[in-house]
Amino acid sequence: MSFASQGFGPEIVRAVTECGYDKMTPVQRKAIPAARKGRDILANAQTGTGKTAAFALPILQQLLDSPKQRQGRQIRALILAPTRELAAQIATNCRDYARYTPLTVEAVYGGTKMAGQAERLKGGVDILVATPGRLLEHVAENNVSLSQVAHLVLDEADRMLDMGFAGELKRIIALVPPKHQTLLFSATYPPKMKQLATQSLTHPVVVSV
Ligand code: AMP
Repeated sequence: MSFASQGFGPEIVRAVTECGYDKMTPVQRKAIPAARKGRDILANAQTGTGKTAAFALPILQQLLDSPKQRQGRQIRALILAPTRELAAQIATNCRDYARYTPLTVEAVYGGTKMAGQAERLKGGVDILVATPGRLLEHVAENNVSLSQVAHLVLDEADRMLDMGFAGELKRIIALVPPKHQTLLFSATYPPKMKQLATQSLTHPVVVSV
């Protein structure tokens, strides 16, 4: 299955072609059609399966298709990840995929100064990649508003729970408007994941690879 056949516009098709992607990986084949339609997804996928593109590409295309595209620069997609390394990697991938679009991508994570991140957030961001603790610090300082978030990704959700982020995730989910798309990716599905899945997902399409 090709990316062009899934209704991706020329900007996205060109960017993924330049990334060297020819065909979709299994998780992309299963998740992308449902995610493109705005469905919630519960995906069981390890790192290395192409999961980043599986959640990022449908979100990018939905943002491009949305009439709100050119109104201001409030965050419309929020991607949460457990570590700064993963957050930085996701942001790099998203920037590659968004290269031919007007969409902007920023990442905020602990271990670096708040001030520089706050400055970049004020510049206007469409897609924010964040670790949960640092995101809530920026929320507390009014550096960021989540009131326009329409797409939420919980990546490596099992690791976020293992790292003790359950409370932070709950608080963040409560700050996002009730009507939004959630894509939850996790390598494992321990019992404590059930609570997070129930809290965050509505009639999800279940994807397993
Ligand atoms: P991920 O699981 O998102 O960390 O992706 C693992 C690697 O696969 C990354 O280097 C991606 O750039 C690459 N990748 C993702 N999708 C595809 C694809 N459809 N074809 C070839 N490589 C891909």
